Amino acid sequence: MLEIFFAAECANVVVPEATEQAMRYYNSGNLLWIAQQAWVLVIPLLFLITGFTGKLARFSEKSGKNWFFTIAVYLVFFTLIYKLLSLPLDFYAGYTRQHAYGLSTQTLDRWFSSYGKETLVGLISAIAFVWIFYLLLKKSPKRWWFYSSLVSIGILFITMFVQPIWIDPLFNKFGPMKDKHLEQQILSLASRAGIENGRVYEVDKSADTSMLNAYVTGFGQTGRIVLWDTTIKQMKPDEILFVMGHEMGHYVLNHIWWYLAIMSAATFVIFYLTYRSANFLLHRYQKRFGFKHLYSIASLPLLLLLTGIFLFLASPFFNYISRYMEHEADRFGLEITQNNEAAGKAFIVLQLGNLANPRPGPIYNFWRNSHPSLGDRVDFCNSYCPWKEDKPLKYADYFRGE
Ligand SMILES: [Zn+2]
Repeated sequence: MLEIFFAAECANVVVPEATEQAMRYYNSGNLLWIAQQAWVLVIPLLFLITGFTGKLARFSEKSGKNWFFTIAVYLVFFTLIYKLLSLPLDFYAGYTRQHAYGLSTQTLDRWFSSYGKETLVGLISAIAFVWIFYLLLKKSPKRWWFYSSLVSIGILFITMFVQPIWIDPLFNKFGPMKDKHLEQQILSLASRAGIENGRVYEVDKSADTSMLNAYVTGFGQTGRIVLWDTTIKQMKPDEILFVMGHEMGHYVLNHIWWYLAIMSAATFVIFYLTYRSANFLLHRYQKRFGFKHLYSIASLPLLLLLTGIFLFLASPFFNYISRYMEHEADRFGLEITQNNEAAGKAFIVLQLGNLANPRPGPIYNFWRNSHPSLGDRVDFCNSYCPWKEDKPLKYADYFRGE
């Protein structure tokens, strides 16, 4: 907000009005979002109030040879039923709707193959980890929330670390940038930001979508910046350089570490609340749910339902933190490229390519938006240029040699 006071004319990029099609995409997207938020809670709720989870747990106990197999059998059936029930909504959101708006380039085969892989990865990780939680639930009925939080944080770090090398390549092809001239420009920008060579990847997202994006992922050895090939196709080189400057901001300002730290703290709170409310509900409704003890695998839908509710309630907080980081990454990108015009135009390309509403309503911004609205971001590009006014740069210390 301070920026308004030194609102020099840094650039004059005009934000186009959202097209009629973009507004339809935005409005129907809000309804879809509500349906999706509800659906992830409705499924576990159905498992509970019909008592089906108790039946499935008893069936799993009979077919599993021991405790570990019981959990695996339950998870296989739970995942299959869950995915079957979600398939229509997922298919509509991920395939039908995206094609209807001309945003998808995915073939039907490719969509199903990605969906299948995603389900399999989810199931394997669930089998690998859920038994640890139930072991803790059994061994420590009063403290499991604390130990489970520690385990979850460990899992969060492991996932973040292996995601770019083990999981993401199952879905798309990652490689060095194809345009060597552009790559050279990006790498020299990266070295100004103090990022060593070889951290920039191009991904073949054009096989899935016409939308644009770039992101930072992994940490330590696996930390990297990934640029969608769609972005390379649709943006001009100086616009891409700003986008990369923004991503470099995330990287250099350690936003992934901040994110992990905040998620870790939130994990304790969410597990504690789940612990308190799960015991309360189980005490009251154990007949209906069809199980007596929280350490029975039958409690999985109850734990998913409760963590789902608390995560939903916490999402404005996570989004607020995220919007702050995004704004600072924009500032970093502007300071390192010092090209306000290109930065503002990059956001316009994003707006048009992603069919975005540049000025969404306050509820959307509060509850859903992990980024400042595109309109606000362009306004910032038009008004932030301390280097033209001989004012100090906020991130000057991060920039190496001229
Ligand atoms: Zn960002």
